[in-house]
Amino acid sequence: MNQKAVVVFSGGQDSTTCLFWAMKQFEEVIAVTFDYNQRHLAELDCAKRICEEFEIEHHLLDMSLLNQLAPNALTRQDIDIKTGENGGLPSTFVEGRNLLFLSFAGVLAKVKGAKHIITGVCETDFSGYPDCRDMFIKSLNVTLNLSMDYDFVIHTPLMWLDKAQTWELADQLGKFEYVREHTLTCYRGIKGNGCGTCPACELRQRGLETYLARKGEGK
Ligand SMILES: [Zn+2]
Repeated sequence: MNQKAVVVFSGGQDSTTCLFWAMKQFEEVIAVTFDYNQRHLAELDCAKRICEEFEIEHHLLDMSLLNQLAPNALTRQDIDIKTGENGGLPSTFVEGRNLLFLSFAGVLAKVKGAKHIITGVCETDFSGYPDCRDMFIKSLNVTLNLSMDYDFVIHTPLMWLDKAQTWELADQLGKFEYVREHTLTCYRGIKGNGCGTCPACELRQRGLETYLARKGEGK
């Protein structure tokens, strides 16, 4: 493999695992992080630090306009983090986020002469986010190719994995401890194991426990 790839990178568990996956697959990896007034700047810090450590070219793009369009719990302190009730979307949902992020990642990839785009979206754990679904990604891949007359390949290494399998992938890549300590998933901005009580921490912790239990059973 001697090709260039752009990874959509937030500094969280999923996208960091994708970053390490991409580093194994491609000769050159570029990371792009979107700043949309996340609850915690710590997230951006995390992303920046990881890229520095592994000498990855890092682009930080200002997407604060998302906050004008879709006020939500990730960007607005006055909206509580809640999981969806009665099948509704969780309050952390940002309408169109992956559509926008992947489109901008596509533009960056083209400018950089990269054909591959990697995103950590996942249909297995999808909390009702329509633009995390495989069907959407495949559709967008075609649209991006048509829009720029270019042969992008969008990779979604986590698409069919559950959280435990995502930990397993990090482990296979030799980065289990690193991902555990240096990534930020917590909605309250606490690195590593996080606050332990927000929905993001609960999901992460459950996956970790499941993976460790499976591993302990010698599976
Ligand atoms: Zn938390």
